[in-house]
Amino acid sequence: MKLRKLLLTNNACFEAGKTITPKGIMVHSTGANNPWLKRYVGPDDGLLGKNQYNNHWNQDKPGGRQVCVHAFIGKLADGSIATYQTLPWNHRGWHAGGTANDTHIGFETCEDGLTDASYFSAVYKEAVELCVYLCKLYGFSEKDIICHSEGYKLGIASNHADVMHWFPKHGKSMDTFRADVKKLLIIENKPAEPVKKKYYRVQIGAYSDKANAEAQLTKAKKAGFTDAFIKYD
Ligand SMILES: [Zn+2]
Repeated sequence: MKLRKLLLTNNACFEAGKTITPKGIMVHSTGANNPWLKRYVGPDDGLLGKNQYNNHWNQDKPGGRQVCVHAFIGKLADGSIATYQTLPWNHRGWHAGGTANDTHIGFETCEDGLTDASYFSAVYKEAVELCVYLCKLYGFSEKDIICHSEGYKLGIASNHADVMHWFPKHGKSMDTFRADVKKLLIIENKPAEPVKKKYYRVQIGAYSDKANAEAQLTKAKKAGFTDAFIKYD
C-alpha cells in the first residue's frame, strides 16, 4: 500500500469536527468514470496532478453535496495507484447516508470504465491492504468490513449499489474481499520465526587414555574454551 495523507480541511464534514469510535470499515466506489485521485483529492501535492476544474472535495460542499470519506484509492498523475487518507480515521465521515457514519470508516475506490482488469486488480489489492492496516490499527477482523450496498441491506446506509456493481465483473465480491483481508491478516500477524542459532562445533581429539583426555580438557579450558567437556562414546 502506498499511503499518503491530505486532509480535506475545507470540507464542511471536516469542519463539523465530530469524532466516532470506529467499529468497522465501509468500502465504496465512486460511481463515476474517473480513476484519477486529483478528481477528489486536492490541491496538487506534486504527485496528484492538478485538478483543472478545481472540483475536488477539499471544499465546503463538493458539487453542492455534503460528502466526505476517510480515504480515496486511485491513480496518481504518473498512473501508479495510491491511497490518500482524507479525514482522521476517527472523524465522523459523511459517506454512508445512514447510521454507519457513526460507526464506520469509509473509503472510496475511484472507478474507471469498470472493464480494465489490471486497474481493478491494482485497486482491489490496495483496498485489501488498507483494510488490513485499519484492522490492525483498530483490532477489527475481516467480518467488520462491508460495502455500501451491504450497509443498505443492513439498514445502516443509503440505497447504493457500490461495490457489487463492479467487483463481480472481475470475479470478485465482498466475500472474496473479506477472505483476502483475512489471509493477509494471518500472514502479517504471524509472529516472526525465532532465528535459529548456528553453532560451529570444534572437536579437539579422541583419547584412549582418560588421563590424557582430562589433561587436554584442562588445557582447552585454560585456553578459554570454558564450555569444553569430555564425551565418552
Ligand atoms: Zn458508496
